[in-house]
Amino acid sequence: MARRRRRRDVVRDLAKQRAMLLYSLAVESVREGKIERARSYVELGMRILMKARVRKPAYYRRWVCENCYAPLVPGLTATVRVKGTRGYILITRRCLLCGWISRTAASRGEDSGKATGGGNTPP
Ligand SMILES: [Zn+2]
Repeated sequence: MARRRRRRDVVRDLAKQRAMLLYSLAVESVREGKIERARSYVELGMRILMKARVRKPAYYRRWVCENCYAPLVPGLTATVRVKGTRGYILITRRCLLCGWISRTAASRGEDSGKATGGGNTPP
């Protein structure tokens, strides 16, 4: 039995799908060396998300430069460093186009919780 969905949910779903598609197009353009095109894809995707009032998906929050809106592809437009010998890990991403640095902290235990099957060894 199909539940009837509200129109707003449908619009949000479509916005997410389009943002995802635009992001993958942006990454492709970076690989082809077309940075300006990639930026316009990302900006369009963010505008669609804002218009539909959707929270930005994880890849938009983490893998887009907050300064110049370029998609951060490790090795091409970004360098990624992982530091941390204590209870948490510090992930540093640097945009190679404008030099913007973003840092996020991740805890050691929870971060691997996404993987199903428990492939990670417990401490
Ligand atoms: Zn940048």
